[in-house]
Amino acid sequence: MGKYIGLKPFPPTFYEKFAPIAKVIEEKCIGCERCPKICYFDAIKMNNKIAVVNQDNCTGCGLCFEACPVDAIIWVPDESTQTGPFIQRYGVGGIEFGD
Ligand code: SF4
Ligand code: SF4
Repeated sequence: MGKYIGLKPFPPTFYEKFAPIAKVIEEKCIGCERCPKICYFDAIKMNNKIAVVNQDNCTGCGLCFEACPVDAIIWVPDESTQTGPFIQRYGVGGIEFGD
């Protein structure tokens, strides 16, 4: 699957199966602060120079994913849903989409 591009990352049916939201891999984040500036939904804050996603605010729009220069942001299923074939197949915790 290709890297997320803007606001049309996946077909609607994909979202019906599970809600993807953003997560920052702390070890990869270089603290550039691009993602909190680009997030429309105020879902990312910097904490000790590491970006942290507030999953309650994240809509899965993907702008941060595209903005990150070091691919430190991945998709994880929205754990609040706890349903759908994705969760059943992979379990709660996450999987990386991209290159
Ligand atoms: S996916 Fe969108 S809403 Fe979620 S943290 Fe990234 S920019 Fe914000
Ligand atoms: S854009 Fe990437 S490297 Fe920059 S602060 Fe956000 S997660 Fe960290």
